[in-house]
Amino acid sequence: MDIANNDWESLLDPKDWGALREQGHSMLDDMFSYLQRVSAGSGPVWQPIPADVRHSIHEPLPVSPCTLDQAYGLFRDNVLPFSVGNAHPGFMGWVHGAGTPVGMLAEMLAAGLNSNLGGRDHMPVEVERQVVRWMSQLFAFPSEASGLFVTGSSMANLIGVLIARTRACGGSVRTQGVSQQPGKELVAYASKGAHGCIARAMDMAGLGSANLRLIEQGGDGAVDVQAMRQAIQLDLKADRRAFLIVGTAGSVDSGAIDNLRDLADLAAENNLHYHVDGAFGALCVLAPDLAHKVDGIERADSIAMDFHKWMHVPYDAGFVLVRSADSQLAAFADANQSYLAREPGGMSDGSPWPCDLGPDLSRGFRALKTWMTLKVYGTQRLGQAISESCERARYLTQLIRSCDELELMAPVSLNIVCFRYRSAEAISERVNSCLLLALQRSGIAAPSSTRISGRYAIRAALFNHRTSRMQLESLIDFVVIQGRSLNKGRA
Ligand SMILES: *Cc1c(COP(=O)(O)O)cnc(C)c1O
Repeated sequence: MDIANNDWESLLDPKDWGALREQGHSMLDDMFSYLQRVSAGSGPVWQPIPADVRHSIHEPLPVSPCTLDQAYGLFRDNVLPFSVGNAHPGFMGWVHGAGTPVGMLAEMLAAGLNSNLGGRDHMPVEVERQVVRWMSQLFAFPSEASGLFVTGSSMANLIGVLIARTRACGGSVRTQGVSQQPGKELVAYASKGAHGCIARAMDMAGLGSANLRLIEQGGDGAVDVQAMRQAIQLDLKADRRAFLIVGTAGSVDSGAIDNLRDLADLAAENNLHYHVDGAFGALCVLAPDLAHKVDGIERADSIAMDFHKWMHVPYDAGFVLVRSADSQLAAFADANQSYLAREPGGMSDGSPWPCDLGPDLSRGFRALKTWMTLKVYGTQRLGQAISESCERARYLTQLIRSCDELELMAPVSLNIVCFRYRSAEAISERVNSCLLLALQRSGIAAPSSTRISGRYAIRAALFNHRTSRMQLESLIDFVVIQGRSLNKGRA
């Protein structure tokens, strides 16, 4: 075969770049129109997926090609209108960010570049390191701090637990594994209001979710620090090895924030690793009127946070900040992979690589959309958007308080409002869960649910920067009118 004449064209790039460019422009245009429409609150928040739509993408593995227009048409007509709706101002479910146009564009740029941020010496990794430096500054961490982008706080919390584990057991735990000898277990402490991923992190770290002590909360939802102190003393007396305190900055149920200063003291008294799950609440530091609520977070050994929640960076953009880079390297770096060797001066320079700081090797360029969001909006405006969502929560609380038929279910410390329609206790859960379903299916507003002290509650998590008073008023109007009729129907 004559290799010189074997002039392959790329099978996967177009022959006609001009046509593709035009298609690209119109797709981008469509997405701007979508964002503009949705920002204005037009259309339902969410709608049930009709069976034909659900099935529209069911087909055998495509062996032969279709046109980009055909594939895009399916997305435009059958995927886009049936998303969960977290960009819509009526979305109040779970803890979701709403996204921004800047984030969308940054995501496109990152995908065009298609960088792998596992390591090597290139500017995309420097962008990630710059975000790490910014976060160190924001949380008053030392300049030697390190950090890493991950999928979300579930992963960031797991990394915190693994760093604490290696710190307690020494590096040998990585080769020998953990031995949780009965009576001598490594034990961690968190609030009963802590996110379920903390227990899962204990499980996945091989430490056992049963070795996470979930401590009672006070009336404001913050963990009872004295009760945690007693639990630690009890375990230490029994010869168990306390190794980790997890503070919660913004509980997922009600937005409660632990007393992070007292927890820092408690961790210091007992020489424990102090990790803060600040998935959304950590970013209160951006809002001058809220920052005091997370006082003490600057004393954490590690912090988990999500830029995809209260900072509206498009999914996903989780992050872990670690006070001691050495402790993070000790938990993850592995010098034994010869194909990942570092050669100074070449492409493989720039050690340590991000892959030395966590479990992932191949990693996307999550840093770009975060860096660009911080640059383009600035911390002042981002912080203001956070303050405003707490203001909305106070307005909603006021609407609930001024209506006898509604009951507030938990103190509102940030932007999460738990309430229910008043009805006899025996039917309350049925009435309120039907109400929630009707609300979601109405497309008017989409809160989710939770349990507060075992009792079913409608939970409006007001993260969306587009939500207006009108959406809150529509929510309450709907709840009251439907609540009345459901209550009558079931009484
Ligand atoms: C959302 C959340 C998590 C989980 O984070 P993911 O990004 O969904 O993995 C953990 N803790 C708290 C307090 C949260 O709000």
